[in-house]
Amino acid sequence: MTEYAQELKILLSSPKKIVITTHKGPDGDAIGSSLGLLHLLKQLGHQVQIITPNAYAKFLHWLPGDDDVITYEGNEQEANKLTSEAELIFLLDFSHMSRIATYADAIKNSNATKVMIDHHQDPDIDIADIIFSDTSACSTAQMVFEVMKAMDMTSYLNKAIAECLYVGIMTDTGSFKYASTTAKTHHVVADLIAAGAENAKIHDLIYDNSSATRIKLLGYCLNEKLRLYSENNAAIISLTDQELKRFEFKKGDTEGFVNYALAIEGIKFAIFIAEKDGMVKLSLRSKGNFKVNGIANKYFSGGGHMNASGGMSELSVNETITKVETIINEYKSELNKTN
Ligand code: 5GP
Ligand code: MN
Repeated sequence: MTEYAQELKILLSSPKKIVITTHKGPDGDAIGSSLGLLHLLKQLGHQVQIITPNAYAKFLHWLPGDDDVITYEGNEQEANKLTSEAELIFLLDFSHMSRIATYADAIKNSNATKVMIDHHQDPDIDIADIIFSDTSACSTAQMVFEVMKAMDMTSYLNKAIAECLYVGIMTDTGSFKYASTTAKTHHVVADLIAAGAENAKIHDLIYDNSSATRIKLLGYCLNEKLRLYSENNAAIISLTDQELKRFEFKKGDTEGFVNYALAIEGIKFAIFIAEKDGMVKLSLRSKGNFKVNGIANKYFSGGGHMNASGGMSELSVNETITKVETIINEYKSELNKTN
């Protein structure tokens, strides 16, 4: 960390054109860490642009600096130009080029120095020149704070940085409840609140600001779409495109739904399946030692963390359910272990 931090500090000592990017389907950590870093880099006098592969949920658009974000999808020409002119590119919250989809080629072709800050397993170290990788970190946002600290730049911590990083840490730790939440996380969060992050306001804006149709969709999922495999401690929730349309689905509306399946007593493996943008997307969650990233990788061209992963299926929703049922069966002895 320290050697790379010194190297990065030297690179940041003169004004540069900088691009920050993060993974497709950006979540709170992806956007929070990117914007937190943007607010630091701007204070240092750099020209900074965030380019996300595609759009993100409405509940993240209130974050300070949101106007400095463009999506690659739909703005390819402008994004390609900014990327080829960039001298420094930050890759945040992902560690494999496949995670940035159609934007990957532009990044690969750029001559910029690339800096990875990420907490995912098995990083592809060939994609960056300077690598901050900590698979034990709860979030990339926490790592951005650590990198700032390692560069002796905490004096730049202000309300904007604090609020963005708070969102990243809060969302990736399930509001500080996952096992990845450590004493360090709480120390960092204490510093963020001291620097002006309005924690109660942030929780409200992210979690208690849903459309009525989203809450009704949640009710529908729990009441009518939950399949329980109690003998194997697993549960599936699925939604078709038609069902999503019925509840006026907007990007981000189903975020967190999978956790309700995991909240049921005894359930160790929860799967959420939804048809989105002509594809079937899966969210896998688990408790304890049951690892879902291997399953996401092996069966659904995906990956992620031990207890929270995602992937895709080329089958229909119903066929995907059948495939997941087969997987549950295959892993039943592991799912029935008492840990
Ligand atoms: P979610 O279920 O919230 O979409 O994703 C949970 C976690 O799984 C993400 O933080 C990310 O680490 C990982 N993930 C989700 N989708 C994919 C995917 O398509 N490929 C890979 N490699 N990881 C994914
Ligand atoms: Mn993350």
